[in-house]
Amino acid sequence: MAHAAAPVVTRDEEVRRAYAADASGLVLVPDGVARPTSADEVAALLAEASSAGTPVTAAGGQTSTTAASISDRGILLSLRAMPRIIDVDPVARVARVEPGVLVGELKRACAAHDLLLAPDPTSEEECTVGGAVACNASGARSLRYGATRPHVRALRVALADGSIVELRRTALEKNTVGYALAHDPVDWFVGSEGTLGVIVEVELGLLPLPERVVGLAIPFATEPAALRFVVAARDSRAVYPRCIEFFDVLALAIAREAEGSRDWAMGAQAFVYVEDVPPPGIDSALDEWLALAESHDALVDDVRVYDGETALREARRVRHSVPARMNERGAARRAHGGRKVSTDWAVPYGSLAPMIARARALADEARVPQAVTYGHAGNGHPHQNFIAHDADELGRIEQVVEATLREVIALGGTVAAEHGIGKLKRKWLPLQMSPLQVRTMQAVKRELDPAGILAPGNVL
Ligand SMILES: Cc1cc2nc3c(=O)[nH]c(=O)nc-3n(C[C@H](O)[C@H](O)[C@H](O)COP(=O)(O)OP(=O)(O)OC[C@H]3O[C@@H](n4cnc5c(N)ncnc54)[C@H](O)[C@@H]3O)c2cc1C
Repeated sequence: MAHAAAPVVTRDEEVRRAYAADASGLVLVPDGVARPTSADEVAALLAEASSAGTPVTAAGGQTSTTAASISDRGILLSLRAMPRIIDVDPVARVARVEPGVLVGELKRACAAHDLLLAPDPTSEEECTVGGAVACNASGARSLRYGATRPHVRALRVALADGSIVELRRTALEKNTVGYALAHDPVDWFVGSEGTLGVIVEVELGLLPLPERVVGLAIPFATEPAALRFVVAARDSRAVYPRCIEFFDVLALAIAREAEGSRDWAMGAQAFVYVEDVPPPGIDSALDEWLALAESHDALVDDVRVYDGETALREARRVRHSVPARMNERGAARRAHGGRKVSTDWAVPYGSLAPMIARARALADEARVPQAVTYGHAGNGHPHQNFIAHDADELGRIEQVVEATLREVIALGGTVAAEHGIGKLKRKWLPLQMSPLQVRTMQAVKRELDPAGILAPGNVL
């Protein structure tokens, strides 16, 4: 149980408003804000909240696109005042951190030891490790390294009743004890979106930094050619992609502006960004990439190469400019009842081209302006960013998205590949999960949070 006093809960209007928005476009003003500086303070606050039946929603960088990190019920528990990197151990290749450290900052601390923190959400300079774990965040490089989950070695979690549990993955290679869903409690909390406990410490596994990474931006005269190239790159044994990202013609326009090169690849209708990371001892596959691009009708004279850390950082900045710009456009429509609507669906990568074509047809049929479409094509995972100019258009866009998601599910896909369900996508959970699966999740929630105080409205 907790050994510290609970932190002050601020009721100040200005402070409450400062924590009322995330990247979802919604505004939910909490009744109070708590900013604990230690795990014990978190636990004390939860113990009090459980007794009083006060809802508590954990928040990190509040970059959630699904309104998961905001609430107008009870206390908003910001973990940003717990930003410590406790230890980076270059021998054991692990980092131990408090939940409020920014992912980008931890990544740089690990790189100083020649180690790679693999999870790389595009929002890494604004989002926290606690938030990335709670959302099981992915990124472009998840194509090679997986999402956040496999990199989480251990967690300390403050439960709803104010107790703190320490959870560590086992090294078992075989195990037949009990139900698989109970084998590894670390997995209960990764991706639980603040609904099962508050993560107060994280231990992450690290990888050796790759010796050389080369990025290539490859333009194409047509979208279908670009998407055929994505599948070929994924299937090829001659190249070593750690990410394969697609940008449609609208995303290309934003990227050109961000890069300050308005005349780059003027004949292009799409481009694909890849990063090549050959296994140790094997040379960069630059020539193989160019040959593959040429055989898929790329505009090879306009290919851009990003070689070296500074150039790669610039490529990342340009990549980030697309969702960031779309967030700005969405925010500008808030006063009119509009906002950005972002899809997060994914399908098996071989089905990506027909699914994007179908999604575009559904938008056309509903006379909704086409979404800016970009993202993790190598995983069959594009984001469609629609801008709803007003409440009426928002309703029509949501109908288009729901029709799209039904087709995604029919193709064996998911409605939310990396941003989670939060509050905004809860209505779409039953498209993918059976009533039995939902009841099982509800039973886990009841067991860990019997008073239902944690992040009400998220997921379930
Ligand atoms: C421009 C932009 C680009 C993005 N790109 C990506 C991307 O490439 N990949 C991706 O996966 N996501 C992306 N996202 C979504 C989001 O940034 C990530 O999911 C991010 O990891 C959330 O971290 P955060 O610290 O902002 O968490 P928040 O938004 O503050 O919270 C997210 C969820 O985690 C819970 N939470 C936060 N901290 C804790 C804690 N300590 N304990 C328990 N629960 C907690 C909250 O209750 C909430 O449910 C993007 C968002 C933006 C705005």
